[in-house]
Amino acid sequence: MAVLQYDNNNTNEFTCTCRGRLDVFDRNKDIEHEVLEDEYSMEIPNYDLYRDINTGTKFTLLKLESILCYLEQFQKKLDDDSKKLYTNHFLKYLRRASTDSLYFFKSECHAEMKKKVSYHIDIRIDLDGFIAESQCACAAGNGRTAHCKNVCASLYAIFKFSTCAEIITELSCNSQLQTFHQSRHFMASPLKSKDLPLLGYKDVNFDL
Ligand SMILES: [Zn+2]
Repeated sequence: MAVLQYDNNNTNEFTCTCRGRLDVFDRNKDIEHEVLEDEYSMEIPNYDLYRDINTGTKFTLLKLESILCYLEQFQKKLDDDSKKLYTNHFLKYLRRASTDSLYFFKSECHAEMKKKVSYHIDIRIDLDGFIAESQCACAAGNGRTAHCKNVCASLYAIFKFSTCAEIITELSCNSQLQTFHQSRHFMASPLKSKDLPLLGYKDVNFDL
């Protein structure tokens, strides 16, 4: 911060300098205010409505053409670096929430160079597979049309799931979808209720 020097011999100059700097301060304040107002934030569903993508998830809408079309408006292509972020398990998770006509995806992606750092990503896809909005918490990912590497990696993940039912995240050791949510087949012989061992009760008539 600059320190103002009081000059006894030139009070007017001090006053002018001071006023000038205050004006600059006021202008900066306004600019800061404008920047804050410009920082876009997507409207997304409540966090509780998101579900991990798994074998039970139905989504086939995102085509590669949609991603290329989305990136083309920024003269950008889906590069190998973004694909590698996905294939090298940089995505921590990929979750989805849906409304009547929209799909919202939420993911978290490790930074390419600092794996301890990770960024949250939101992507909205319309029913026709059109990428409508995206935002990322990284420095280059301000919404509504963020197109940083983290967004691209997440889009690629959604595309892979959409076309191959494949999803690779940090927790998955291979490309198989997790299945812990699925109930297992019952292999034992069914037991009739009258044959259940009931402690303290004898000769219970279940037909009454
Ligand atoms: Zn980003």
